[in-house]
Amino acid sequence: MSFDKLLDWSQSEFSHLPWRVQRTLYRTLVSEIMLQQTTVSTVLNHFERFLKEFPTLKSIAKATEEEMLIAWKGLGYYRRAKNLKKIAEYLTAHFDGEIPLDYEVLVSIPGIGPYTASALIGIGANKKALAVDANLERVIARLYGFKEAKGPKLQQKIQMQFQEGMIFKGVRDYRGLNEALMDLGRTNCQARRASCELCFLRKNCQAFSEKKVLSYPVEAGEKKVSQEHELDLLRLVIKKKNQILAYQKSEGQWLSGQYEIPTFIVKTSDNKLKQYPKIDFDTSELHKVKTSITKYKITNFILEMSLTEFKKLSFPYSFEWINLDDKANLSTASMKVLAKIKNRDQE
Ligand code: SF4
Repeated sequence: MSFDKLLDWSQSEFSHLPWRVQRTLYRTLVSEIMLQQTTVSTVLNHFERFLKEFPTLKSIAKATEEEMLIAWKGLGYYRRAKNLKKIAEYLTAHFDGEIPLDYEVLVSIPGIGPYTASALIGIGANKKALAVDANLERVIARLYGFKEAKGPKLQQKIQMQFQEGMIFKGVRDYRGLNEALMDLGRTNCQARRASCELCFLRKNCQAFSEKKVLSYPVEAGEKKVSQEHELDLLRLVIKKKNQILAYQKSEGQWLSGQYEIPTFIVKTSDNKLKQYPKIDFDTSELHKVKTSITKYKITNFILEMSLTEFKKLSFPYSFEWINLDDKANLSTASMKVLAKIKNRDQE
């Protein structure tokens, strides 16, 4: 099977991505961590700005966690920012801020797992390694008709066959191969939609020849469908001159490290949710703004009140005044609420 056309397609369509234009191990590490659970277009908006602020692993190691979280804003899943900081601190302390290229050494570093280690070797250094995430797992299972259930067993089989040269025979451009398979998984070979007519591999694709593309990779047992939840929040706006009352989210809470305006849960279809205290409140007359986080579709109802009124609500977290000119660390949802009030006042 030839992969030349696939690699040429990937090169001509996606070589402009900033982490591909100027390739270093550090830029590969940052891009791979940013791209986990985040779309290419979102990462594009933040990648160069982040690199400008943190040009080296040592600069990340030196920064405070708060500085990192501010720079990460807009990318979501803040745990990844903390993880990147942990990796940077370790590599600065033990490898003088350099990234080693030995797989076993890499996976022994706190925060680096098999995927990131393989991405650094295969993509960053163009050496023999396949960075198998859910995307590559799907594309390869379809291409070669692997019937193992999705998960560790299938991934082990892929890695073993790749290392032994049984799949992707003759390909020496390991970086190009990894990137092309990622591009294919993101575009034509998606989990619920495959555009095989646009794919250069269809003549040799096992799933395509069986006309069972969407049946691969095989699900392990009954898959739990992740359920979306509706969530109504009451967002309180308490102002004093040019300041707003906010509280800092602690470890284990959504957006930990960031500041949010005081918030209560009014209603949710997820009874287990404990991110905010609950309140019984009639929101029918309030202005609202929509946001979302993970599986929650959120309606934020906005209520302005005085500090005296607020104190009667026994909000369980300690709060402080934040200068409105310095909103850098205020959560996106809080900013949207403030923007809504501003627009309303200007109407
Ligand atoms: S032919 Fe279809 S199923 Fe096979 S790799 Fe291409 S897009 Fe995926």
